[in-house]
Amino acid sequence: MAGLAGKRALVTGSTSGIGLGIARQLAAEGCSIMLHGFGDPPAVERLRETLERERRVTVRYDGSDLTRPGAVAALVDATVDALGGIDILVNNAGIQHTAPVDEFPPERWDAILALNLSAVFHATRCALPHMKRHGWGRILNTASVHGLVASPNKAAYVAAKHAVVGLTKVVALETAGSGITCNAICPGWTRTELVEPQIASRAAALGVDLAEGARALLAEKQPSRQFVTVEQLGRVAAFLCSEDAAQITGAALPVDGGWTAQ
Ligand code: NAD
Repeated sequence: MAGLAGKRALVTGSTSGIGLGIARQLAAEGCSIMLHGFGDPPAVERLRETLERERRVTVRYDGSDLTRPGAVAALVDATVDALGGIDILVNNAGIQHTAPVDEFPPERWDAILALNLSAVFHATRCALPHMKRHGWGRILNTASVHGLVASPNKAAYVAAKHAVVGLTKVVALETAGSGITCNAICPGWTRTELVEPQIASRAAALGVDLAEGARALLAEKQPSRQFVTVEQLGRVAAFLCSEDAAQITGAALPVDGGWTAQ
């Protein structure tokens, strides 16, 4: 995968979880990285500095809130300024809220649609002209199994992730043959900060500890009964950025222990 050396990657939501797993793998393959997301400033700076030192690549950081109008375009501009361009865009930042539709807080709907869907559109819209100029680009959208199937109590998340899968296909068709590909990765349960509250509420509902709550969550949906790891998702992302994956475009790839095979 020496082919990724020198590529410039923006990974949204890469201060933790799946985005950090992807950023670490892309840095390991020689990409310079724009880290992005929220976090305690000293901790984020330690993360940035460690990645830069260990991987010997340029790593910059931006902490903007991508639900704010204009923030996404500014982030793409900041990436181009800091890294000299943008070859790889990983639209990964995302949030969750669970409640039945008739109790779903409208402001949570708006926030989830803004970050999990509209930010993907804006980043893609702004990054594509740079990629087109170079005749090469990779756009990866962290969708979800919930881009392919539904679960109760996740109206906004499921709606946004299905839309991301649709957007992925449109971008793939519009860029086909140009050296640019666009794919969605659809993880199942991956143990990150986004999932911990769901494990805690399952454990509380069953009156069991967190380990048992996690087992119950997996048993319900994920036939492998194992969490996907962020390292696995990092390597899947790097593969989709490689030349071997040049003809994979418009795909929504489940990485879900069999969840969507049922
Ligand atoms: P996470 O909470 O660890 O990471 C979310 C990232 O998004 C963090 O860097 C956070 O700072 C950033 N973020 C949150 N709100 C933001 C905002 N308003 N503006 C900018 N950045 C913001 O969770 P994760 O599980 O790693 O989630 C990453 C992506 O993976 C999300 O799109 C999520 O929907 C998707 N996903 C997660 C799972 C899972 O089981 N964990 C499964 C399928 C898909």
